[in-house]
Amino acid sequence: MKILVINCGSSSLKYQLIDSDTEAVLAKGLCERIGIDGMFTYQKAGCDKKVSQIDQPDHKKSVSLVLEALTDPENGVVKDLSEIGAVGHRVVHGGEAFEESAIITDEMMKAVEACNDLAPLHNPANIIGINACKELMPNVPQVAVFDTAFHQTMPKEAFIYGIPYEYYTKYKIRKYGFHGTSHAYVSQRTAEILGLDYKKAKIIVCHLGNGASICAVDGGKSVETSMGLTPLMGLIMGTRSGEIDPGVMEYLAKKENLDLEGVMNILNKRSGVLGLSGLSSDFRDIDSAIEDGNEQAKVAKDAFVHRVVNYIGAYIAVMNGVDAIAFTAGVGENDPDMRKDVMEHFAYIGAKVDEELNKCRGVERVISTDDSAVKVLVVPTNEELMIARDTERLVLK
Ligand code: ADP
Repeated sequence: MKILVINCGSSSLKYQLIDSDTEAVLAKGLCERIGIDGMFTYQKAGCDKKVSQIDQPDHKKSVSLVLEALTDPENGVVKDLSEIGAVGHRVVHGGEAFEESAIITDEMMKAVEACNDLAPLHNPANIIGINACKELMPNVPQVAVFDTAFHQTMPKEAFIYGIPYEYYTKYKIRKYGFHGTSHAYVSQRTAEILGLDYKKAKIIVCHLGNGASICAVDGGKSVETSMGLTPLMGLIMGTRSGEIDPGVMEYLAKKENLDLEGVMNILNKRSGVLGLSGLSSDFRDIDSAIEDGNEQAKVAKDAFVHRVVNYIGAYIAVMNGVDAIAFTAGVGENDPDMRKDVMEHFAYIGAKVDEELNKCRGVERVISTDDSAVKVLVVPTNEELMIARDTERLVLK
């Protein structure tokens, strides 16, 4: 089956057409600056990327451009739209309503809309993408795959916050966690690569990208993760603070004469690696600044590593052991020094990274030594493939 995977943001739309039989990507691309002007990128497998400026006043126009490109007689990959068997949509927040991916119906969309408050920047955009596809492909089944769903297996003691319980019952304030599709894919793949029984393995996945989170996967189930009610919690990220004392917010508001929105803006957009280094949110820039002797860049990297170590250590305790630790996403896949710095802290549990094997970027590989008590891996994430798999499974059910 050919499955169109859509990841819709407020002004962007990423897409891939995946053949679920071979799991090959037939074509992929990106619509950007939707509602502003419009850039359209299309890449057929094995061909060069084509980038063009095409006005996209709304997401419906973007979806129609994607469909035109996929069916284009010269550069397309399908003869007509009837060849597309289903559409899989990434949806950021499924709240407590969705423990799994779901076929899109009018009824279930009400439950998705009810989660908008929990992810006001993301969910409305995801819904716009779903509606645009429904309008342009009314007879094609659509599936929603939630970033939060994988974490719905967390036990209550892990997801509950230490605030009055009524705020959980009234407003559903709790830890949800994100990057679930990535954590699910990477943990499954880790078990496959190592020949471990997924239902018994204890795996820690470090998804370290611009947004970053860590997940403890025990017996194929997420039992702890570092993001919270929102993706602001946990690790130090590109521009997000991650975990801070909540008291900082009041103190900062008073000192800088800011309202809550002003403080949130600092924590979301001006903090993290960018805020600490004063330079960039991108680790490539941080690494080269460190080489040039920039002290603040070093502070940013050290603090990032320290926080990752904190969470891995905590999750080993939560699971009472660990079989494998996997690194994924932009930083996790591409930064050998960072992996080495993190893993040095786990020599005490017998984790040994092989320096030569660790010299890799963006490839799937075991990077621990043969005699390492805990296996360490690099597993490039593939959220789109996971979305395509789930979509096919639900459509064929
Ligand atoms: P997201 O999907 O959250 O936007 P990615 O997973 O694509 O983020 O990660 C992007 C980040 O990966 C960049 O900001 C950069 O910090 C990091 N990165 C990418 N390539 C490298 C590299 N070669 N070395 C170090 N860091 C890298």
